[in-house]
Formats: sequence, structure tokens, C-alpha cells
Amino acid sequence: MQFEDQPVSVVKRMYRCPQCGDGHITFTGSVLLCNPAKYQHYCTKCTSIFSLPERNGDIHYVYETPKAQPAQPLPCSPSPAS
Ligand SMILES: [Zn+2]
Repeated sequence: MQFEDQPVSVVKRMYRCPQCGDGHITFTGSVLLCNPAKYQHYCTKCTSIFSLPERNGDIHYVYETPKAQPAQPLPCSPSPAS
């Protein structure tokens, strides 16, 4: 099987506080053991508590070119209206 290397960018995803819009979101070190796990954070300015699906500042790979989409919707794809 042949393969093709695709370029990606490495980004650090930073959340902004939705309450005050200005504070830094900091991971408390606590993880809520649900499925999927939630990571507890607090705002350093307004002290609001948040549960995020990842730790603030986690590293992600982002495709530099959009991924190809199938020409027709797959049989199990949700319809656009739903
Ligand atoms: Zn805040």
C-alpha cells in the first residue's frame, strides 16, 4: 500500500474565559471521571470554574489543506437538515 505525507501545523489551543472574556483559564489538576473525561479549570481573573474536554494549552495537529470529502454522503451520515 502506498502512502502520501500531508503537511500539518502544530497549534497550542488556548481557551478564553466565557464569563469575563479576559481571564486566563488554568487547569486545576482535577479530572472528572466521566466518559469522555472532563478537565476542571478555573479563571485566574473571575475564578469561574469550567469543565473542558481537554486541558487548556493542549497541542493539536491541524491540516493545512482541507481533507477531501466523499463525492456523495456516506450511507450513515446525518442529513444536513437534522
Ligand atoms: Zn473569567
